[in-house]
Amino acid sequence: MATINTKPFGRLPTGELVDVYVLTNAGGTVARITNYGAMLTQLHVPDKKGNSANVVLGFDNLEQYLAGHPYFGCTVGRVANRIANGTFSLDGVTYQLARNENGVHHLHGGKKGFDKVLWKAEPAAGKQEATVKFTYRSPDGEEGYPGNLDVTVIYTLTDANELKIEYAATTDRPTPVNLTNHSYFNLAGAGCGDILDHELMIAAKKYTPADKTLIPTGEIASVRGTPLDFTSPTAIGARIAQVPGGYDLNYVLDSGGGKLALAARVRDPKTGRTMEVLTTEPGIQLYTGNFLDGSLTGLGGTYKKHYGFCLETQHFPDSVNKPHWPTMILRPGQRYSHVTVHKFM
Ligand code: BGC
Repeated sequence: MATINTKPFGRLPTGELVDVYVLTNAGGTVARITNYGAMLTQLHVPDKKGNSANVVLGFDNLEQYLAGHPYFGCTVGRVANRIANGTFSLDGVTYQLARNENGVHHLHGGKKGFDKVLWKAEPAAGKQEATVKFTYRSPDGEEGYPGNLDVTVIYTLTDANELKIEYAATTDRPTPVNLTNHSYFNLAGAGCGDILDHELMIAAKKYTPADKTLIPTGEIASVRGTPLDFTSPTAIGARIAQVPGGYDLNYVLDSGGGKLALAARVRDPKTGRTMEVLTTEPGIQLYTGNFLDGSLTGLGGTYKKHYGFCLETQHFPDSVNKPHWPTMILRPGQRYSHVTVHKFM
């Protein structure tokens, strides 16, 4: 039996009230999700012995989210990840987007992306799952993007211990769309230390090499024989010293996208807590919290370098400038859809 409760979370500077939705399943897993940024703020998951821990980095109050943070738990869009120089051409027209990364590139939807807007919410409880549906209309021209985009993000917590995120969007003009969730996980518990001992498997034999500013070169390369190879379970920290700064790259999933398939599995050896990520997307960004520097204190403690990892299911970064890659262009009459499932065991 799953339940959902709505609680006040705070007030935006505009005076608008923000809520948090508390989803609980039969096994005692609890997800807290807010309509500000359609964001997962807490996820308490029991281990095999029944000990629960919050496995995502975040805060217990809206003020800290408003003060600034590196996309903890957010829904990211209109286009997650990077667009080189914040520009692209579509049907003969060149668009300039907000440049909010490295002074030149566009990152995670711009200065005020989907992570910083208030979404409409509809909570619902079923027999074996609890659901909250968020909707947002991104107006034509927002952050430089063409077309009004109607976006839906549905979070479902099931009694099978899955947190499912379903994304959909429609547009009235052609536009790029690439939505993801930016949760930082630590399966031992947020704030409890780094994630370097977590064993990670990523179902990808290939990745998209990138330049120093993390813009892909357009090539697809094999991970074989490199420290990027997670085709068999390996501790995240085992070879991280060979990767300057830490992992921050896009993998080309073996599934090819289009159907729900296993993308990654992560296990914390201390608690045995394990998470599988399944997705319909063709790519996944592994980011090992390289820029966490101890300046933020949230749930569970202070967040230092590598205290969390992200597995962002997505289309490949800068696809909008790489015509040979799976397209992220959505046209009127089409429907964007993306499903990602986080399964805990
Ligand atoms: C990116 C990182 C970035 C982080 C934002 C990740 O998705 O790949 O480069 O620093 O998001 O905090």
